[in-house]
Amino acid sequence: MRIFNFSAGPAVLPTTVLEQVRDELLDWHGRGMGIMEMSHRGKDFTGVLHEAEADLRDLMGIPSNYKVLFLQGGATQQFAQIPMNLLAGRSADYVVTGSWSKKAYKEAQHLGGVRLAGSTEASAFTCLPAANELKLDPQAAYLHLCTNETIHGVEMFDLPEVPAGVPVVADMSSHILSRPMDVSRYGLIYAGAQKNIGPAGLVIVIVREDLLGKASAITPSVMNFATMAEHDSMLNTPPTFGIYLAGLVFKNLKAQGGLAAVEQTNIAKAKRVYDAIDGSGGFYRNPVDAPCRSRMNVPFTLANPALDAEFLAEAAERRLEGLKGHKSVGGMRASIYNAMSLDGVEALVGLMQDFAARKA
Ligand code: PMP
Repeated sequence: MRIFNFSAGPAVLPTTVLEQVRDELLDWHGRGMGIMEMSHRGKDFTGVLHEAEADLRDLMGIPSNYKVLFLQGGATQQFAQIPMNLLAGRSADYVVTGSWSKKAYKEAQHLGGVRLAGSTEASAFTCLPAANELKLDPQAAYLHLCTNETIHGVEMFDLPEVPAGVPVVADMSSHILSRPMDVSRYGLIYAGAQKNIGPAGLVIVIVREDLLGKASAITPSVMNFATMAEHDSMLNTPPTFGIYLAGLVFKNLKAQGGLAAVEQTNIAKAKRVYDAIDGSGGFYRNPVDAPCRSRMNVPFTLANPALDAEFLAEAAERRLEGLKGHKSVGGMRASIYNAMSLDGVEALVGLMQDFAARKA
């Protein structure tokens, strides 16, 4: 019996995908061995890799002048790898809208010139900066954004107006594949796998070809986007099991009707949770400005934090887990990624309403 898993990541994966993985673990397609045991250079695994890439291109509508890289080191490694590859002795702009973009900004500071182009820290990361609050450098090597802040629950539905020629680099770790995105508006998109894609250990980078080949001389070859692109992400042994599982998740999303269909479900799920919060007469509260409330990560506090432990205990009794909020913001957080079912969301809303009715 599976729980309803609201963890921010690693997070719930589609049950049907996990069942297929279980069935294929010992014997993939009659080959007498599983994916984890196969050479990455053999035709079986290269087929898996190419199919995963083709399905991701299809799902996201990735234009042909973009490379798709399957890398390791998590999104955190990208915080360093991106400036190493793209700064080229110039300066980059960072907009800080939560803990993750702040970490990316801090890491980039070790590696070259970076500017803080805007920050919402003074408002406790509960909103996005207004257009007139951004100080964008028209000469910047790139503009870095985190388009969904997993801890603060702030999502960007529109990109800021960016000076012509400045590529946007986006950390989409916690909302990639949750809705259609126009890839052509970005120079580079990156996402750790362990929320909407698959197991931790895999990170996907989608990069426009003209941004390749600018890496600083000290960039190790496994961290050089151009070198990894030349070798089809296989300069060294890639995270084969993660790529295989990601490929199954991509097929699962295509079978659901693609990202436009997935988005409709995600809108409905998020609305149920935010309505439960806003309709609670102040028993629950989400502090984020309505237009930028995340559809994937819903942080909320109880007006009386002394009830937090009891809320979590009742959740556990109903097999709802992973709801404790990040320690930096406290309270609760419901991560409702693609693989969280509407039934799971209904179970959470049921608990929230019952609990509030008894304790208010
Ligand atoms: N960026 C975002 C938006 C995240 O949510 C996370 C992880 N929760 C990271 C970066 C860091 O990812 P990793 O632990 O894979 O390095």
